[in-house]
Amino acid sequence: MNYGRTYNFSAGPAMMPEPVLEEIRDEMMNYRGSGMCVMEMSHRSKVFQQIVDEAVQDLRDLMHIPDNYRILFLQGGATLQFAAIPLNLMKNGKAVYIETGAWSKKAIAEAKKYGEVIVAASSKDRNFSYIPDCSDLDIPEDTDYVYICENETIHGLTYQQLPNTKGHILVSDQSSMFLSKPCNVADYGLIYAGVQKNVGPAGMSVVIIREDLIREDLDPKVPVYMRYDIQDKNGSMYNTPNCWAIYCCGKVFKYLKSIGGLEEMARRNEEKAKILYDFLDESKMFRGTVDKEFRSLMNVPFVTESADLDAEVVKATKAAGYDNLKGHKSVGGLRASIYNAMPKEGVVALVEFLKKFEAERQ
Ligand SMILES: *Cc1c(COP(=O)(O)O)cnc(C)c1O
Repeated sequence: MNYGRTYNFSAGPAMMPEPVLEEIRDEMMNYRGSGMCVMEMSHRSKVFQQIVDEAVQDLRDLMHIPDNYRILFLQGGATLQFAAIPLNLMKNGKAVYIETGAWSKKAIAEAKKYGEVIVAASSKDRNFSYIPDCSDLDIPEDTDYVYICENETIHGLTYQQLPNTKGHILVSDQSSMFLSKPCNVADYGLIYAGVQKNVGPAGMSVVIIREDLIREDLDPKVPVYMRYDIQDKNGSMYNTPNCWAIYCCGKVFKYLKSIGGLEEMARRNEEKAKILYDFLDESKMFRGTVDKEFRSLMNVPFVTESADLDAEVVKATKAAGYDNLKGHKSVGGLRASIYNAMPKEGVVALVEFLKKFEAERQ
């Protein structure tokens, strides 16, 4: 059905799969004979408990999450985890962070409030256009964890290879790449993601944490909401959770399973990104801002030779029905976020439009 929807290239909140939105619509007034909408439901009800249980199980299936990892659905977005991670994982008060863009910088600033932060590698010298070599980092023995932002949403870069943590646990912010491709969960101590980029509605983050890293001997001043042990014991429902986001994300998990899981999702994402990057590489007007080998599959920043022309292109794309292409102010230019739910047709249409724009200016 044609709903008159736009191709929305927003960095987040972003597009959701249309079949999921249709299902949600169909269940809006009366969820499966319960007589109410999920928004109106007690989080202590049997019917909602089933929604949570299925969401956890479907995510476990989708990512092949080993049994010794726990899954939490928490509020406060990815930003609250910037603080929750040091508060829960810093035993010795020391962590290594890799600085690769705006989101790792924010995580570093927050972690510094709670302990010693060692920035062991950075790509700041070239405005975060590459991932620094992390094969032989200087990691003190008593480091509690090594932290990365695995896909930098604003600067548009991603790791090809995880850092060599030299036996320390790896913590990864996967907010803008969560469920975009297969992930070997056992490589990490903790993975987390705000869901509004690649999964569902804003207001929730998923935390996947290895069981033995959940501690009870925390500073008593750690806010109860931020304690992984309490959240885990209470099945992410110590208080009222974001019921709506859990419900919507659960539907997306099922949808991803139905299309062939993360292998198929990765195939589609690679295909989409290639269309756009191939165009940027051929174009004389536009160019990508990130070194080729570190280009993100999800967030594609690009520029022309002038800020004025950039602004003109953004305006023209908007008028033509392609929304939210303005780049972040720290990079400038344009940025196309092409998350899981962006159809290939959207990317093809955008590239056709940019080609035409370029040809008309020649
Ligand atoms: C958007 C984003 C965040 C912040 O997410 P909120 O849910 O708004 O707190 C953190 N990290 C990355 C990589 C992001 O893309």
